[in-house]
Amino acid sequence: MSIDENLLETIRAEIGSNFPVTVADLCNLVKIPSVSFEGFDLEHVQNSAAAVKALFEELELFEEIKIVTAPVPGKETHGKPAILARRKPKNGAVTVLLYAHHDVQPEGDPGLWDTSPFEPTLKGERIYGRGVADDKAGVMTHVAALRQLKSLNADPNLGLALFIEGEEESGSPSFANLLKENADFLESDVIIVADSGNWNVDTPAITTALRGNVRFTIDIATLEHASHSGMFGGVLPDATMAAIKLLSTFWNEAGEVAVKGLTTWETETPEYDDTQLKHEAAPLDGVEQIGTGTILGRIWGKPSVTVTGMDIPSVRNASNTLAPNISVVVSIRIAPGQLAKDAWVAIEKHIAENIPFGAHYSIRDLELGNPILVDVTGEAAETMISATEAAWNETVVLQGVGGSIPFIAELKETYPKAEVLVTGVEDPQSMAHSPNESLHLGVFRRGIESEALFLATLDSSPYNG
Ligand SMILES: [Zn+2]
Repeated sequence: MSIDENLLETIRAEIGSNFPVTVADLCNLVKIPSVSFEGFDLEHVQNSAAAVKALFEELELFEEIKIVTAPVPGKETHGKPAILARRKPKNGAVTVLLYAHHDVQPEGDPGLWDTSPFEPTLKGERIYGRGVADDKAGVMTHVAALRQLKSLNADPNLGLALFIEGEEESGSPSFANLLKENADFLESDVIIVADSGNWNVDTPAITTALRGNVRFTIDIATLEHASHSGMFGGVLPDATMAAIKLLSTFWNEAGEVAVKGLTTWETETPEYDDTQLKHEAAPLDGVEQIGTGTILGRIWGKPSVTVTGMDIPSVRNASNTLAPNISVVVSIRIAPGQLAKDAWVAIEKHIAENIPFGAHYSIRDLELGNPILVDVTGEAAETMISATEAAWNETVVLQGVGGSIPFIAELKETYPKAEVLVTGVEDPQSMAHSPNESLHLGVFRRGIESEALFLATLDSSPYNG
């Protein structure tokens, strides 16, 4: 669908003049510390859900808006509150589902922040604060784009569905149930997931590939009780030694994943050199890269294994004993094109074949998330690419992302005919999940313009999905 230049000019002018209000609304959301992790105050997530609901209610575009929760499988509890809404389409128009999440990561060590994490602070062209980019800016992109749609057409043809999740950062434990219980309510032809990033602050991107994830805790035991390391060391293995020897088999000498059966996704990747890697990921002087192939080829298309936690005796408590048992958390990214359950079969086999010295082990807290490959040949995708290029005045990069958004696979399964578009208003300096998270205001404004132009284009020239 072609883009109307006059429409773009109108949208650009109105979004520009409303931008201070949009930014103020965003800052009000960031002030609510809606951390969805266990052990954090649920009331903040509830307040955040209420604030988000109010923003969408004010639009008067939806026939129904509700805050819902769903049970967490295998637990007695319900998940965190999500905001769902629905507007019926007219005159043969399609229905667009807008997704973002209103929960945030914990602030982490406050000493590492240059500003107060829940007090949004403007410095230059960026606003700093936890969740300002991931993903409260995604929420506000939808709000501002819908305000613009309404300004252009008080009674749009477009059908709309809304899904603002409240627990994305804690692994979406009740997502599948939420989706199952509200599948008809959220039924749509196009799904916009506004939770990803752009190539840089001047170049837009649409995310077309995401790695999947396999995460688990392994408990390893070799002895019924601890013993003096002088008495029995050298005869019996301690659990730490068994774990280290097992873990070391996950990589070859080049640091590349050595688990047989984990696949690779071959793809062309844009230019990305060592200097850019150094700038974005800050390796120390002399630290070498691991793996082989282009940098982006590795990040987008190859598996990686990271040990993210270990319970072993602490340095302070280190006595001369053989540790009888320890626990390790292993987080594995898998390549697009492989199902997480198939990857897990390969990993489980690798563990069974490589656990040394007959050590006992068991697996718990297994999480499987499927990778994603997005087809961008559909009409909605083409329209989104055109709208984004018009708003940014720059060619869109179709990018892979090393991270995972497993629920996209669940959306795809529930609505197999729907086109999924992964957008977002982050950029490589946004530092989502880290201290000093920030949002670039130019990226934010152009992101809103892109989505508004997309919605207005679909609304003025309906097509049948
Ligand atoms: Zn996010």
